Amino acid sequence: VTTYWCELAWLGGAEPEAGVVVEVEGERIASVEPGAPVPPPGSRRLDGLTLPGFANAHSHAFQRALRGRTHSGPGDFWSWREAMYELASGLEPDAYFALARATYGEMALAGITCVGEFHYLHHGPGGVLYDDPNEMGRALTAAAREAGIRITLLDACYLHGGVGVEPQGAQLRFADRDVDSWAARFGDLAGTDGARIGAAIHSVRAVDPASARVVAEAAAGRPLHAHVSEQRAENEACLDAFGVTPTELLEDVGALSDRFTAIHATHLGERDAELLRPATCCLCPTTERDLGDGIAQASRLRSAGITLSLGSDSHSVIDVFEEARAVELDERLEAEQRGRNAAHELLLAATANGHVCLGWPDAGRVAPGALADLVTVGLDSARLAGTEREAAIASVVFAASAADVRSVIAGGREVVRDGAHVALDVASELSASIEAAWS
Ligand SMILES: [Zn+2]
Repeated sequence: VTTYWCELAWLGGAEPEAGVVVEVEGERIASVEPGAPVPPPGSRRLDGLTLPGFANAHSHAFQRALRGRTHSGPGDFWSWREAMYELASGLEPDAYFALARATYGEMALAGITCVGEFHYLHHGPGGVLYDDPNEMGRALTAAAREAGIRITLLDACYLHGGVGVEPQGAQLRFADRDVDSWAARFGDLAGTDGARIGAAIHSVRAVDPASARVVAEAAAGRPLHAHVSEQRAENEACLDAFGVTPTELLEDVGALSDRFTAIHATHLGERDAELLRPATCCLCPTTERDLGDGIAQASRLRSAGITLSLGSDSHSVIDVFEEARAVELDERLEAEQRGRNAAHELLLAATANGHVCLGWPDAGRVAPGALADLVTVGLDSARLAGTEREAAIASVVFAASAADVRSVIAGGREVVRDGAHVALDVASELSASIEAAWS
């Protein structure tokens, strides 16, 4: 048993609790007791504000190598996609492992203890299958383990380069021959202690309705994710081809349930939000703003009974505080009104909600029985100095950066100490693996 004393801890309400003693037994929290003004003898001090571990519910790890290379200049999602294809065309499993380990290391430094990896870079160049057709997926789960975080590998079915279009170029690496080939490969994936398996329908662009139905059936009992209405052009193509919105199509094929997560959900129609309940919508505001996608209607989705989670998606930055506040601040710009998503609601999206949509309902809370993920944010940086203790939740959500994360414990194991990863030199691994990915 390890005993931690948190100067402040967020236990789910609008305000933090002071002097919280957390006992950890193995990988789980055994007890949580607020109201201890001084650390008990033998306990470890966590100075600052301690939060549950963050879940990054939507990641494409390889896209970390695009950071800084695609942000300036004209274009939109579709021109960005060309740069992404160029990167994807060259990566092999060893290089991908190194890049993913470094990227997950950056996530750990940012307080992320679980990642949802929406995995579609499956096959070798030209679409040639590796000896183990899941070699890339297994590289990702191994990378997460070495970085000290948990993963839900969401293996994405991808069959078409667009509605009714054969895959070509880099898309051949994403595509299985048909949905039965995808299902066979998916069926061969097994979870471990730190890795759970889910499925994904890449999008209604890449998976036809009959195949989407097979994916939904194969995902029974597990998380099922899909990119939904990120682009107006996607809605238009779907309406033209099938006469329904992407959400209606997914409803028709039996994909929607409380295990379903719609990624982006930027351009939903009136009926779409009703259909999605009680699913999750995973917003990725830093990517959506980078790509000029548009702004999801977070408060409208929440009032329709939809759960929100957060993802860093293309990793233009990896900073959960930035994702969380962007949900509210982007909506303020559009609505010309403040205070539509409270700070503690945004933290819920970053923690418990994200874990639920990744199939880890036993994580994301500082509570007895939960996995022992403790993220401590220092309140003494230039950004956060002067924080009022009662208002620490709002201070952190609206002003902290990933660099303020001082300590991370994931599943009872220390991953970050004094702001540094205990096992990896993350910056030099990123530098080397990104250079290798482009060479
Ligand atoms: Zn995505």
